[in-house]
Amino acid sequence: MGEVNIDEFFCPNEACQDYGKKGKGNIRLKEYYGKQDTALLRCKTCKKTFSENRGTPFFGLHTPKETVLRSMATD
Ligand SMILES: [Zn+2]
Repeated sequence: MGEVNIDEFFCPNEACQDYGKKGKGNIRLKEYYGKQDTALLRCKTCKKTFSENRGTPFFGLHTPKETVLRSMATD
């Protein structure tokens, strides 16, 4: 852990209007915590905080670049 790429995260709060959307600029790094420097992230839209482990269901996997680019293009 330690270094996180904010652009890879999205809000895990299903009630949030930016839920599941990456690269919206709503996710901010709040702080690091714990032994493993887990990143605590905050959604500006719904004001919820969540850990980096919750922020991505694809944790440890790589989203194909093509998919990422496509979703960015449709925004
Ligand atoms: Zn949110």
